Amino acid sequence: MKPFKNKTILQILDYYKNLWALSYTSAIAHWDLETYMPQKGASARGEALGRLSVIRQKMFLDKDFVALLHAASGLEHLTDQERGVVRILLRSLKYYEKLPPKFIEDFERLTNTATVIWREAKEKNDFKIFEKSLSKIFDMNKQAAEYLGYTDSPYDALLDQYEEGLTVEKVGPFFAEIREPLETLLEKIKRSDLFQSTHPLESAKYDKQKMSELNDKVLKYLWKDFGQNFRLDTSAHPFTTSFSNQDTRITTWYHERDFGRSLLAVIHEFGHALYDLQSAPELEMTPVGGGSSLVTHESQSRFWENFVGRSEEFIEKFLPDINNTVHGSPFTVHDVYSYINKVRPSLLRVEADEVTYHFHIMLRFEIERGLIEGRFKISDLREIWNSKIKEYLGIVPKNDSEGVLQDIHWSGGTVGYFPTYSLGTFLGTQFEQEIVNCKLKIVNYEDIKLWLRDHVHQYGSTYTLEDLLAKNKMRFDPGVNLKYLEEKYSKIYDF
Ligand code: MG
Repeated sequence: MKPFKNKTILQILDYYKNLWALSYTSAIAHWDLETYMPQKGASARGEALGRLSVIRQKMFLDKDFVALLHAASGLEHLTDQERGVVRILLRSLKYYEKLPPKFIEDFERLTNTATVIWREAKEKNDFKIFEKSLSKIFDMNKQAAEYLGYTDSPYDALLDQYEEGLTVEKVGPFFAEIREPLETLLEKIKRSDLFQSTHPLESAKYDKQKMSELNDKVLKYLWKDFGQNFRLDTSAHPFTTSFSNQDTRITTWYHERDFGRSLLAVIHEFGHALYDLQSAPELEMTPVGGGSSLVTHESQSRFWENFVGRSEEFIEKFLPDINNTVHGSPFTVHDVYSYINKVRPSLLRVEADEVTYHFHIMLRFEIERGLIEGRFKISDLREIWNSKIKEYLGIVPKNDSEGVLQDIHWSGGTVGYFPTYSLGTFLGTQFEQEIVNCKLKIVNYEDIKLWLRDHVHQYGSTYTLEDLLAKNKMRFDPGVNLKYLEEKYSKIYDF
């Protein structure tokens, strides 16, 4: 069956290719900025990207195109994919119609500069250097919320930008539901005789070249066309971007010790890449190609990270390569498994384990909400951060770069994104359960990829998260991940 056949939709898709081409170009410029661009290219790149975003807005607001979109919103008897196109474009239209072009341009400029200032502040461990920029970023986000509109909290308007329909009303109860069980679980782990505040493999050094070969080997094993439609590069922070479903890029990082960070990042980003690689080819260059729900996307990356990358079978398969890469070997499967699955309170979100990770997100959710709703002040942020991390994890940062300055998100203007990480992780476990219920084994990666393609990836962004779950006869249930964590870690820590 053809996904697109309605005349109005075909006209929309034809014009949309211009917008797609601009996004495609911006994506390459962003990818290059994070990977290979010499540092001094930053200001010209910022200018070019800022102008591209303004051109895109102007083209989107073309009178004839907007008229087509309005006409399409009343159409009946559309295919699911056609309805998806209308839904996604009307969301963008709302954004472009409500935010003045000058506001979008100013915001782009502000965040390009702020990222550079944030890097300096982080290097110098001084929040004060970044405070003024951050203050402007939150002010502009508050302003954006007013432009976009909301019913209850202004933070809702920002959450919705990253996950369609997400509100404080939904995120608040989710965190309330998981907080106590996770605290109890962490307490049990900390009381276990097997609890270690450090693991010897964390400080074991590795050879960077060999690590990069190991990462390539893992990706080749998971995706046979690795190198042909999919590549791996290095950046300051791992990420995935897709230019088309035949050209997907991921990155990882190398710290020359603590090899799990590099390896798990590769497997995590592979999960994101797979979503785009397996999106139906007919959806390419349309608004529904690839995944747009961040919760769904993160469910895929966490699925591969937690259920493949952290599994005994996977470690066993690559143990000879790990031993060949990491100094101080040979290590046993048990050594590596206990290292990859260690749980302990830590200061950095990106290093956090499956149990404590969500406390890092709760803290950010409370802070962002408090700032947007006007209950917190940026000038108090360092103190607020430090007291909250102490409340959740019982530890306090020694400096700002392992505290309030650790994440890049705010410097890029992103407020309202963090909750999708936790929600996505919880959803990833539900997909694992569905797969296991279908009598499939997680170690049979080819079967798993097909299952994920058929149930999730092929649709791209055709459905909202809620509709995608309904289509698969699922509903979001935090209890599934809580039960999995309890079972897994009671075995590892023997309680
Ligand atoms: Mg991710």
